[in-house]
Amino acid sequence: MQNLESGDSPDGVSPALLGGSLSSEEGERAWIQAVAFTRDRSPASFDQWFSGVQFDGFTDGVLSLRARDEFVRQWIEDYYLPTLCEWLRGHTGLSIQARWSIDGALDHPVADRPSYPPVRPRTISVRPFPVDEPSGVRDVGAAGGSAPPPPPAPRIHAVPAPMEALNPKSTFGNFVVGPSNQLAHAASMAAAGGGGRRHNPLFICGGTGLGKTHLVHAIAHSVREDRPDARILYISAERFVNEFVQALQDQKMNDFRARYREKCDVLLVDDIHSLAGKTQTQEEFFHAFNALHQGGKQIVVTSDKYPQQLDKMEERLVSRFQWGLVADIQAPELETRVAIIRKKAQLEHIELEPDVCLQIAQSVRSNVRELEGTLIRLAAKASLLGKPIDIAFARTEIAASGTSRPNEASVEDIQRMVCHHFKLRSVDLVSKDRHKSIAFARHVAMYLCKQRLKCSFPELGRAFGNRDHTTVISAVRKVESLRSNDPEVRAHLEALERKLGSLD
Ligand code: ADP
Ligand code: MG
Repeated sequence: MQNLESGDSPDGVSPALLGGSLSSEEGERAWIQAVAFTRDRSPASFDQWFSGVQFDGFTDGVLSLRARDEFVRQWIEDYYLPTLCEWLRGHTGLSIQARWSIDGALDHPVADRPSYPPVRPRTISVRPFPVDEPSGVRDVGAAGGSAPPPPPAPRIHAVPAPMEALNPKSTFGNFVVGPSNQLAHAASMAAAGGGGRRHNPLFICGGTGLGKTHLVHAIAHSVREDRPDARILYISAERFVNEFVQALQDQKMNDFRARYREKCDVLLVDDIHSLAGKTQTQEEFFHAFNALHQGGKQIVVTSDKYPQQLDKMEERLVSRFQWGLVADIQAPELETRVAIIRKKAQLEHIELEPDVCLQIAQSVRSNVRELEGTLIRLAAKASLLGKPIDIAFARTEIAASGTSRPNEASVEDIQRMVCHHFKLRSVDLVSKDRHKSIAFARHVAMYLCKQRLKCSFPELGRAFGNRDHTTVISAVRKVESLRSNDPEVRAHLEALERKLGSLD
């Protein structure tokens, strides 16, 4: 481990004289808020880089950070540290110095994502981009890319909550539509156009990295363009909780309520599942929801689960989430993955041969964020080594990173295939519906998952609408027995297995 120092121009003034010292807890809080601010400002590749950084403390203006390697340190220093330091200085009154150490094995990286170290590119454009603060988007704070840093505040507890900002690249135009996300995309377009009761609320659900946030940002961009006067509120549920707590603490509930119940035409709430267990906030959200819905205002929420799977969420909220349209996003199919890679390569000015595109798409199946990460990493490494991104290079790198998972379909792949085969909707397999044909398809999907994947019974139970593991065990046994005794069932299974084989 080696130590390095750098900073934002230590100006010889003792931090203690400027703003006083912070306790380690206050220091950590400040760091968390600075990170949230910086991530909002430059979301592109943020997690990729910050998965190689660890926070070791912030005391007396000294920010102790650990980087996985020199590349990561340099990249963070060049592109992220100025914003982080600016925020910290502005909100603590301290002069900030970064103290780095290099450590190949980080215990608690800031972002717990890619398992591979990002490599600093020389020529490709993967720099964090400035955030475009839309004029029609109200109350999303002052996190605009070219906005000046926030004014100095004397003490840390005066810090406002981190701002939500829109990613200017997350537009409908940059969203690749395929069978896996068609419904969510169409519903989002309709909601942006003032969709009417059928799309209110619009509930977009799907696994992580599949494009939910992209779609809500796209809705905000589109509304802003078409109806510049519309008051849009885009907020993560987590921030909604923080704002609510802050409003309670500051006795500003009237302002808070006015903001969410009256001064809003379009409410976009990301990751609603994080309201789980927060009963008071849920109550507040419930009233905001009712006020807006009654006033015919559009509400869009995203979630990593279907409404009926949301844990620790009030029943009345869950039922309201189902009033309008529930649109799910599944993991993209091969063709969609290829199209997404092409689109991303075009946006990042990366030249890619079609066979390389296909190679990446075949290697990364479940998550678009991972797909993007693989592309960026390949481009960065090729640029660093001065090599072209040809098929041999792509194969070697993908194999070395362990991204490739040959012969392995995911639970979602199997569920999607079974739904397609039996002409059902994906939501049916995880629903409580016990209709004979749906139950049969569900049992078949469970059976195929158990045969093909290394999932435990409880894992499968969770993946099929939080069912008990004993239900999965009995489903698998039932299908096994039908397979031996019923030629029609056997034919279905063989057809599905052939299709699954072609996935690998
Ligand atoms: P989620 O909110 O579902 O976790 P995001 O919306 O953050 O996922 O998407 C992760 C990344 O994948 C983003 O960079 C997003 O732009 C990209 N992405 C997801 N789906 C698509 C798509 N269909 N077309 C283009 N980019 C996509
Ligand atoms: Mg998201």
